[in-house]
Amino acid sequence: MANIFAQIINGELPADIVYRDDQVTAFRDISPKAPVHILIVPNKVIPTVNDIEDTDERLIGHMFLIARNLARKEGIAVDGYRLLINCNRHGGQEVYHLHLHLMGGRPMGPMVVN
Ligand code: AMP
Repeated sequence: MANIFAQIINGELPADIVYRDDQVTAFRDISPKAPVHILIVPNKVIPTVNDIEDTDERLIGHMFLIARNLARKEGIAVDGYRLLINCNRHGGQEVYHLHLHLMGGRPMGPMVVN
């Protein structure tokens, strides 16, 4: 069974999709931690940062350019925002399909380590 984000990308599960192209899909987080909380997800399954391959270099760069564009579109670019990727258990990763969190719309505060 495909992971939950793969199901969203395949259209099997509903989501509030804000952007998609042949490489990535971006949708709003179902449990937002900020007024703007968008997940930028590669269309192909890469479980964790550890699984990124050298040939994924352009894809990973593309994820950041889409995050930049969405931040502008959402009106949070000037005030600023946080980009975050969790990896594995100690990183607090819940969904094992690589995703870049874009969070903003309020001061995000200091880096939280707890
Ligand atoms: P992470 O801890 O980095 O793996 O984050 C997983 C994120 O996915 C969390 O912020 C969840 O709220 C979010 N999430 C889980 N299921 C869904 C879903 N069906 N649609 C949108 N976001 C989701």
